[in-house]
Amino acid sequence: MQNEVNWDWSSFWSETVNQLKARISEQESVMWFGNLEYLSGTEEVIRIAVPSSFYKDQISQRYGAMINETLENISGRKLSVEFHVGNPQPVDKPIENDEKVADIPEKQPAAPSPKPKQPGMHSHTVSRRPGNDILNPDYTFESFVIGDNNSFAANAAYAISKNPGTAYNPCLFYGGVGLGKTHLIQSIGHSVRQDSPELKIVYVTAESFTNEFLDMLKKNNMHQFKNKYRSVDVLLIDDIHFLQSKDSTQEEVFHTFNALYESKKQIVFTCDRPVSELKNLTDRLRSRFERGLNVDLRPPDLETRQAILMKKIESRNISISPEVLELICQNITSNVRDLESALLKLVAYAELVHKDISVDIAREQLKDKFTSSFQTNISVDLIQKIVSDYFNVSTADLKSKKRTKAVTLPRQIAMYILRELTEYSTTEIGYEFGGRDHTTVMHACQRIESRMKTDSTLEPTINNLIRTVKDNIKS
Ligand code: ADP
Ligand code: MG
Repeated sequence: MQNEVNWDWSSFWSETVNQLKARISEQESVMWFGNLEYLSGTEEVIRIAVPSSFYKDQISQRYGAMINETLENISGRKLSVEFHVGNPQPVDKPIENDEKVADIPEKQPAAPSPKPKQPGMHSHTVSRRPGNDILNPDYTFESFVIGDNNSFAANAAYAISKNPGTAYNPCLFYGGVGLGKTHLIQSIGHSVRQDSPELKIVYVTAESFTNEFLDMLKKNNMHQFKNKYRSVDVLLIDDIHFLQSKDSTQEEVFHTFNALYESKKQIVFTCDRPVSELKNLTDRLRSRFERGLNVDLRPPDLETRQAILMKKIESRNISISPEVLELICQNITSNVRDLESALLKLVAYAELVHKDISVDIAREQLKDKFTSSFQTNISVDLIQKIVSDYFNVSTADLKSKKRTKAVTLPRQIAMYILRELTEYSTTEIGYEFGGRDHTTVMHACQRIESRMKTDSTLEPTINNLIRTVKDNIKS
């Protein structure tokens, strides 16, 4: 019977991609999974086309283990993936001379057979094995750059990894998205594993913990679940904000916490905000999270951003000019994830079009990322204040109807800088200057441009003002 079944390898692949996408950021999924094309599949291997060797290396390094593990969960057999650069060759025969993502396990005749595709059976009904999140090999202390924004957190994490269960227990790291919480908590996992391989370490996101808990509850397997979590030496739970409103899971986390805490096992959490700001959380669990050390991670300053990008460049062997690096670091201030994705976007672009990245190309390619980070950071008030301070007039003057020379030049300069640094329309800018018409703003910008050609001191003055504005938003 089984031989007659037509396995639907492509749906195993598409389900794998769906599940992976749920575990990574949207940017990452667009970047790395938006350009893949299913080619063919056999009982051992699924072949996927990638646009370049850069993609192939990156995907293998970053997601290889995750892909293989997920594929295996979904298909119920040892399946691996081969990436092929360029021309899709949709043939069902093995292609030689291309590395596989990870070690290819021997074909195991005794392995459970994949479920044949049945009419009406959607691939997403194949359940993923929750509660077994794996450590990302890149997230180690060695690759974590320490700056003023995160040194307390990094030192605490390091101390924990050297003395699990005693140094700071429990410990909670909190901070906004992309600031390194997952990197840090996983570094603890790697470091403990290296120093004390006998210790049982579990890293799990709160979401995965919840899914596993519900799954086990349904299967009447709570005994196994409790055994698993109450016997660990180091429990790392990422993103506990996910537990808000999940009453029964909160209850389970509470009991797990107590059991581990009493036997002096290490517990580390991360959260996207201070615990005091979590909603729909039982008081007793809140008090457990707040017990011990709570440390925040803040956005990195300019110097740390530069150090982080330098490190990423070195570790990935990327070549990019210092000017382009500077441009990225100056303009992307929100968090490390945005910084990294800007870099990756440029690298992918360079690879795809076979061109080196000039400052102009970088500016053009990253326009959207710059804009959003500027608009959240630059306020009209800031520019008006810096310009009016410099010229020793009041901001009220800039917005007034006054047309004396002492006021019109600073006003025009402030409008010009707003046009240069933000995406505000001339109408919006006019509105911010006492409700002036957009043609007045256009006229002001043209005046400044033509004046810069004749007045050699004007351009340096404006550049200085722009630098002051940028320095103010970066600090
Ligand atoms: P969070 O969990 O806080 O949302 P992540 O830990 O996922 O953030 O970090 C986002 C990305 O930024 C990761 O690729 C991580 O390696 C990188 N990153 C964050 N902080 C640092 C740092 N201090 N040094 C090096 N890389 C960092
Ligand atoms: Mg995270």
